[in-house]
Amino acid sequence: MTMNAVGRLTAPVPTEAHDVATFTGNRGLAIEEPLLFEVGRPDVSGVDFDDVDDVMPRLGGQVRMAPLDLPGLSEPETMRHYVRLSRQNYAIDLGLYPLGSCTMKHNPRLNEAMARLPGFADVHPLQPLSTVAGAVDLVAELGRWLLELTGMASVAMSPKAGAHGEMCGMAAIKAALADRGEARDVVLVPESAHGTNPATAAQLGFRVVAVPARPDGTVDPEEVRKRLTPEVAAIMLTNPNTCGLFERDIVGIAEAVHAAGAYFYADGANFNAIVGKVRPGDLGVDAMHINLHKTFSTPHGGGGPGAGPVVLSERLAPYAPVPFVRFDAEGAAEFVETRKIAGELGAKPFGRITAFHGQMGMFVRALAYMLSHGADGLRQASEDAVLAANYVKARLADVMTVAFPDRPAMHEVLFDDRFLADTGVTTLDFAKAMIDEGYHPMTMYFPLVVHGALLIEPTESESKASLDQFVDTLRHLAERAKSGDADAFRAAPRLAPRRRVDETLAARQPKLVQPV
Ligand SMILES: *Cc1c(COP(=O)(O)O)cnc(C)c1O
Repeated sequence: MTMNAVGRLTAPVPTEAHDVATFTGNRGLAIEEPLLFEVGRPDVSGVDFDDVDDVMPRLGGQVRMAPLDLPGLSEPETMRHYVRLSRQNYAIDLGLYPLGSCTMKHNPRLNEAMARLPGFADVHPLQPLSTVAGAVDLVAELGRWLLELTGMASVAMSPKAGAHGEMCGMAAIKAALADRGEARDVVLVPESAHGTNPATAAQLGFRVVAVPARPDGTVDPEEVRKRLTPEVAAIMLTNPNTCGLFERDIVGIAEAVHAAGAYFYADGANFNAIVGKVRPGDLGVDAMHINLHKTFSTPHGGGGPGAGPVVLSERLAPYAPVPFVRFDAEGAAEFVETRKIAGELGAKPFGRITAFHGQMGMFVRALAYMLSHGADGLRQASEDAVLAANYVKARLADVMTVAFPDRPAMHEVLFDDRFLADTGVTTLDFAKAMIDEGYHPMTMYFPLVVHGALLIEPTESESKASLDQFVDTLRHLAERAKSGDADAFRAAPRLAPRRRVDETLAARQPKLVQPV
């Protein structure tokens, strides 16, 4: 066996065949786990309840007529069910997680310790504001950092994911247009955009018009100008875009959009590449969501809720939804809770996008990340993320095909499937073979602008040894594909708990409830 400096294997090792039959179906300590509805019994409960005879129903006649049919388990059975499922999850705490666009970076444990402090962990959204002054201050402080880093005028903290933030920012744009008495109903969206962009626009009643990409993977300002009719409400643009490229004409595009009376919505999911380097406000952005769970290390991907605060320009600030934070003359923060109070302050909030103030636990983690890095540390994290992606690009360029080799990659690098031409191996097969090697696949078949896309984002949190191990694995797989080993790829994954599942059937006929 050959190993690298950190004791990791650097050459293929024969793996014992896994077609060993076991009595239980378990593979060693990898334990099979059925659905809760398959193992639970309605007559079992993890809690002992006293029998009650005389209850006066106070539900206004809404009396339950039939048993609930919920699966019952004892406490240890319940624990085991969820712990076993959790062990089937892939997580950033288990290994490199190269999903492009989704920024799966290390979540520092310090953030977890801070989020568990009772003053943050135990606050209830219905507590009187006077009892949670510190928590309010924390949300305001995080908002201040977001404004400083983005160069924007105002921030709505409550949206609970990137897509929710898109909805918030585009709703603010809609409100601003309504206030101007204009019924513009077209939103321009580049072809490389994340699916949530056109979905958000459509959900708000806009018509989506696609903008094609240039051969170099960026948006052509001429193509934008051609489409800037008086019906255009906004453009939704991601920068760096989902090809991992900086949109170099972004300022010109923003100027053209503004000259046409429209707004510029920036999808900020890739902010991790430019924190401390570029302020979106300086580029002419009117609204941008920030995925705290991507850029500021709060867990996601099976690890917790997201948070998608939206920063707004001066022009859109009055339309921010309630609740929002404002600062009094002494700089103390307060929440403006209702539209009425907001109206008295001269604001015209479009409404409320979520019941309360947002994801408190994620706010604590994001601010802990910011404070522990400092401004210089955040900039360095972005630089290291870009460096890591370019390192992966440089080390794989001769065996895989870089989609846009002439432009520097930002925090992620896009490959297409030309290197698999005539091998009989597809992007999907390649990704499945990575699972056998112990790697979560990269983002596949997205963005749609190149054929058979493989989008890799290593993030700043991987060491060089870890990147080398990853790159060596991909080099090995690429060479194996080219050597005519297609059958082995088509049979992958062989070592995962499940082989290839019928994803279409699973999506079309999900097995939601198994009657107990
Ligand atoms: C992740 C992502 C989104 C959506 O964000 P969620 O937090 O998953 O809702 C939107 N656009 C891009 C480019 C993304 O990568």
